[in-house]
Amino acid sequence: MTKSESACIATVSQFRPALPGHIHSKYSLVCTGCSGTYYDDRLKCPSDSALLRAKYSSRQLMLKDMPGMGKFHDWLPIHGIIISDSGPITYKSTELAAELGLNNLYISFNGYWPERGAFIKTCSFKELEAFPTIQKLKNTGCSLVLASAGNTARAFAHVAGMTGIDVYIVVPESGMSRMWLPEEPTNSIHLIQMGKNCDYTDSIHLAERIASLPGMLAEGGARNVARRDGMGTVMLDAAFYMKRMPDHYFQAIGSGTGGIAAWEASLRLLEDGRFGSRLPRLHLAQNLPFAPMYHAWESGRRELIKDIDMPNPKKLIHEMYADILSNREPPYSIGGGVYDALCSTDGIMYGISNSEAKSAQQLFERYEGIDIFPPAGVAVASLIEAVNSRKIDSDEHVLLNITGGGVKRLEMDYSPHKIEPAAHAENAHVPLEEIITQKVLA
Ligand SMILES: *Cc1c(COP(=O)(O)O)cnc(C)c1O
Repeated sequence: MTKSESACIATVSQFRPALPGHIHSKYSLVCTGCSGTYYDDRLKCPSDSALLRAKYSSRQLMLKDMPGMGKFHDWLPIHGIIISDSGPITYKSTELAAELGLNNLYISFNGYWPERGAFIKTCSFKELEAFPTIQKLKNTGCSLVLASAGNTARAFAHVAGMTGIDVYIVVPESGMSRMWLPEEPTNSIHLIQMGKNCDYTDSIHLAERIASLPGMLAEGGARNVARRDGMGTVMLDAAFYMKRMPDHYFQAIGSGTGGIAAWEASLRLLEDGRFGSRLPRLHLAQNLPFAPMYHAWESGRRELIKDIDMPNPKKLIHEMYADILSNREPPYSIGGGVYDALCSTDGIMYGISNSEAKSAQQLFERYEGIDIFPPAGVAVASLIEAVNSRKIDSDEHVLLNITGGGVKRLEMDYSPHKIEPAAHAENAHVPLEEIITQKVLA
């Protein structure tokens, strides 16, 4: 047995199920399909394919006196508190709100904008997933493996570098320009760059193979409750700021994990009792021409059908302006996933064209005075469409999730460092010896 393997097994036994009736932990995991309850950390229910959801022992959320997302500690599935100024911030829009004729438009800004108290230095809400996920890994001796088209990689590399946790990141070539950090990359970051014809889904497949090696842990994607509840802090921060839940929540989605997270956070806020008795309506937007969840939802289907919802995916993905919103296997049909979130909230989906996304991005930057990422432009475009088609009333409370931005602002304060690839993989099937050091494989 290798050193890393024995270390990892030790950790698994740390998460041994509690004795029946003996609830040791601040949370349990409940299957959204069969309601089976688990007291150990796991990604899957043994009898069901549905998502597991964290159930916290504190029904009401008491904020901790911390600067960043650590203030939401009670509703994060971790024991050590997160100490960082990174986290979502909420503010009430005046300029864009006036332009759209909205009296209660609130913006959740997830990026770098110190003038507003926003300090996410990798500039997207993926950092909200990275902090709790990596916090769970501390002291386990395990390395983390993930696939990313860019923002996730940057977020996890940043937090791994801060904590010294080893992270293996598989990136399609199209994502390489997004591989920078505000600080000098450390040698705990192992970047694997894929060949020209590979997309995000190929990266996922290679990452799965690496994660099956001893001592490696998959971050788990949408199944990872630490990721979802980290993203859910967007809704929590907004609810505390507004002293109520919004009527509407707007976000651009690729996997939809952020949409599921917003729904789950609202379910907890509903139970909390202080933030209103109606779930926010989810308004989720995809970027045409690759918009599988939009097509399936418009057809009233729980199932994604490849030939109908995503014919010729590589070509369509290549044509997208916000190409990071391109997941070919999103958690849409799965129990507790995007389809269920939309049904539960009377949700709406949008298919946004490239030109709509670009002009919405420019409009936002002009009125709000901060640069935003293309996916955030997709979300703004969906808000414009909702206003134009009278899906929202001018007095209703609207939360617009700006999922990434502030890179130009960051460049005024920091000079970005490029993360160099440690290895190249031509496709998802290359022998692992070619890309992972012998030390790890031994
Ligand atoms: C990942 C990402 C999204 C999409 O989030 P999901 O809810 O996981 O689909 C939107 N915007 C930005 C900037 C992102 O990095």
